Parts: sequence; structure tokens; C-alpha cells
Amino acid sequence: MRILLVEDHLPLAESVAQALRGAGLTVDVLHDGVAAEHALATEDYALAVLDVGLPRRDGFEVLAHLRGRGKTLPVLMLTARGEVKDRVHGLNLGADDYLAKPFELTELEARVKALLRRSVLGGEQQQRCGALVYDLGTQRFTLDEQPLTLTSREQAVLQALIARPGRVMSKEQLADQVFGLDEEASPDAIEIYIHRLRKKLEGAAVRIVTFRGLGYLLEAVSE
Ligand code: CA
Repeated sequence: MRILLVEDHLPLAESVAQALRGAGLTVDVLHDGVAAEHALATEDYALAVLDVGLPRRDGFEVLAHLRGRGKTLPVLMLTARGEVKDRVHGLNLGADDYLAKPFELTELEARVKALLRRSVLGGEQQQRCGALVYDLGTQRFTLDEQPLTLTSREQAVLQALIARPGRVMSKEQLADQVFGLDEEASPDAIEIYIHRLRKKLEGAAVRIVTFRGLGYLLEAVSE
């Protein structure tokens, strides 16, 4: 899953991004409100972590603008310690959660996962397609109850597919989920990941189906 982190304190942004990447997420990092607003308008994010005090446009304005456009993705605000009015203001503008600085990375990670579980997984801890199961708590896939070893790119592709059961995902949509803003998004590379994933799923009761010119779909194979 791809998320956006907007934080102008660079060392903090880096450590938060690292923690969230370690949890299996694709993370874009931006440092000001105007760039954040642009990215939120053009990219497809599952969640945003938004600092309140940002250069050029503050986090409240970015949030208000986002909700004004009808976007419902979960937003976690980072507020200064003890600023109760900031928290209330953020929640009134449509933030889903907030965390006061300084915070523990493990708490941020837990809250991000909880928000994703609610929004993307409809409250479920696990997603399942035939013999394949994705657990949001451990951020791991299992196949026939055995851990499935995947590279981070393969995992991102498989996550995108299992999150949309029965729906065809185009190469471009998959590339959007797999590559961050600072990477060259290559739809053709998706073919390679799909090829490798098929090998890893071989013989199991789940498969990736190709729809020529349209994209891919994950489906259970009935025995
Ligand atoms: Ca700040």
C-alpha cells in the first residue's frame, strides 16, 4: 500500500518513513503543504500522515482542501505537544486520528495500521484469496499456511491485487502502488513482478489471471 508522509523536520521525516517502509508500505515523503496538496490531487494514496506546522501551506489547509474535494482517505495529523485546540481543529476538519509530538515510532506504526485496517480492509485483520492470506498485523503473506517469501516490490504488487478481489488492475495502477514519487514508475517492470509471483504461487489454489490489454486479477482456483 502506498502512503504519503508530509513532515518538514527532515530527520523526523526520515525516521518515520523508514519505520513505515519497514512495515511493508510504500512511502512518499514531502516537506511542504503545496507539494503535498499537488501529490494528493494526482497520486493514489491509501493514507496520509500530515504534520500541522508546514511551510507554504499548513496541514489544516491541506486537510480542509482534501476533504473539500470529497477525498475520504484516512489522515493522521501530527500535532505539537499539548496543543488541544490543534487536535480538536484537526478532527473537526476531518482528520481520522492525531499523534502529539514527540511520539514513539511504534505507536505511529500501530495507529497507521489501525487506520488502514479500518479503511482498506473493512475492519478485517486479514485478506484472503483461496490459499493466499495477507495479515495486516504481521504485514506478511502466507500460502497454504506457510510463510511466502517475497521481495518488497513483489509484496506491493500482491497487496494491491488482494486488496481488490475480482477487479482487474492495470499495469499503470499497479505501478502507482509499487513505485514512490522519487522512483521511475515502470509499468513494464510490473510484468516481471507478475511473472515471479506466478512462479511463487504455482501449484496453489490461487492464481493471477491476465486480461490482455487491461491488466491482472487475482482469483481463487476451485479444486
Ligand atoms: Ca513542522
